[in-house]
Amino acid sequence: MTEKASSALDFTKYLTFEALTAALKQLAEDYPNLARLESIGKSHEGRDLWLMTITNFQTGADTDKPAYWIDGNIHAAEVTGSATALYTIKFLLENYGRDEAAHTDSTLALVNTLLDTRTLYILPRHTPDGAERVLTTPNRLRSSTRPYPSDEDKDGLIPQDLDNDGVIRQMRIQDPGGDWKISEKDPRVLVKRLPEDYGGTYYRIYSEGIVRNYDGYILKVPPAKEGLDLNRNYPYDWTPDNEQAGAGPYPLSEPETRAIVAFWTAHRNITGSQSYHTFSGVILRPYSGKPDDAFSLHDLDVYKALGKRGTEYTGYPDASIYHKFRYSPKTVLHGAFLDWAYEHQGVFGISTELWDTIKLAGIENRDFIEFLWKSRSEDDELKVFHWMIDNLPGSYKEWEPYEHPQLGQVELGGWDYVHSWQNPPEGSQFLKDVMHTNMLFSFACAAMSPLLAIPKLNVEKVGDDIYKVTALVENTGFLPTYVTTKALERKFLKPLTVTLVALEGVEVVLGEEKRGLGHLEGRSNKQAMNPFHNGYASDDRVKVEWIVRAHPGSRIVVEAFAERAGKVTREYEVE
Ligand SMILES: [Zn+2]
Repeated sequence: MTEKASSALDFTKYLTFEALTAALKQLAEDYPNLARLESIGKSHEGRDLWLMTITNFQTGADTDKPAYWIDGNIHAAEVTGSATALYTIKFLLENYGRDEAAHTDSTLALVNTLLDTRTLYILPRHTPDGAERVLTTPNRLRSSTRPYPSDEDKDGLIPQDLDNDGVIRQMRIQDPGGDWKISEKDPRVLVKRLPEDYGGTYYRIYSEGIVRNYDGYILKVPPAKEGLDLNRNYPYDWTPDNEQAGAGPYPLSEPETRAIVAFWTAHRNITGSQSYHTFSGVILRPYSGKPDDAFSLHDLDVYKALGKRGTEYTGYPDASIYHKFRYSPKTVLHGAFLDWAYEHQGVFGISTELWDTIKLAGIENRDFIEFLWKSRSEDDELKVFHWMIDNLPGSYKEWEPYEHPQLGQVELGGWDYVHSWQNPPEGSQFLKDVMHTNMLFSFACAAMSPLLAIPKLNVEKVGDDIYKVTALVENTGFLPTYVTTKALERKFLKPLTVTLVALEGVEVVLGEEKRGLGHLEGRSNKQAMNPFHNGYASDDRVKVEWIVRAHPGSRIVVEAFAERAGKVTREYEVE
């Protein structure tokens, strides 16, 4: 086998849009039978929203198979998400069809199964504009680059790389009114000033930057000009900006979110979704705004089973956003993609927060939000600091004096957040581990989908040229053909159909050619291990019969189709 050009692609580097585009094109060119690249829309600045469809096209069209959706990098700086999505694409393409090795390697066997029977829709970069800004300038921003809610320049602190080290770090100003002080255990570490602390040396901490129209007294800190968050712009439970910062003027106001919803609407075979974010090391399920009680028992059971698989693959715990990942006890998040995927599309949408320096630093079982956004002990602060400077070179810079054009004497230094807290270093084993383990979890999620099969097709002669045809149709997947009870409640899906295909020389004399047969269960309703149980009924199967007129040599073809469980046919030649 000749080496393909794409084999040299290295996804342990964070790719600019141009490099990402070239990489995807190369992969699609190298694997025409397995990959198809399309642009599903354009970003605010006109960049393509690249989506790779991956399946073995020789075993059927992508839309005739149950599909799994993966996206990354909806938040501009969370480039590990793109890297993981790209790594997954390359791994699938390079490892499909290694049949010998697949006998002894369960991952390779699963790759073959997935590409032969399922489709993966992978969108590596949800916000190409935002990611480009982060990758090519020192700027940090939340998501889209479209100025919102207004384009006007506000007075106050404007983040900027003052010392030209390529990174916007922090700026500290010594001030008796400051809310930070230097740790007594390590002078490089800043800790919060205690309520009873007086008479010491204190600091105010800001982003490195200039101050527009400073009056010499009051330092204003205006909100970022790029105030949108695409992950607050999805239509389920959307609320306006005063209640949910970043929501945008109306649901799907942004071209990126609109393109993705249009794609999903046209691809009713999607059964689940994984959105890669950073950071924290946690697998998140809906709801953002409601407790777990709001789920049906089936859907909550599946979410928990899925979370458990994820923990086994990645080491990350699973959690409900509402219960464990809320920024304030008084507010909930609105307009998030995964809530929309579950509530409006009726699929198991999840988000994984990749990369967890805090756990790597030896801090277990923390409260995610409390630790990051509210308070942490001095000992924990020191643990994280030391782990980071020992393991992530360049992530921290010692404070250095700087003569600020507006503020006078300040110090610059601190974290390069994008390349420490938010993402593992490029080329590092940390990044490789994150990408590989999370890819394996996504394979497991994709493999949960329903999948139709026709394990039996009997044709029995009952008279002159008259035959009785009996087909057994089965859902061989873990999930039911409707996937979630939410989809049933929404009356979102068409029923499973089984058709005796009218071919020449075959005439159905009894029974409708095409039957609508509701839905089939899978194995997700059979997880109990009750020893007093007499077993589960075959609710994953249905038997269909016809009486047909046919002749020796006629082909009898039965086709089963369900929107989320694929299309399958089986045929029999009359003797
Ligand atoms: Zn995120």
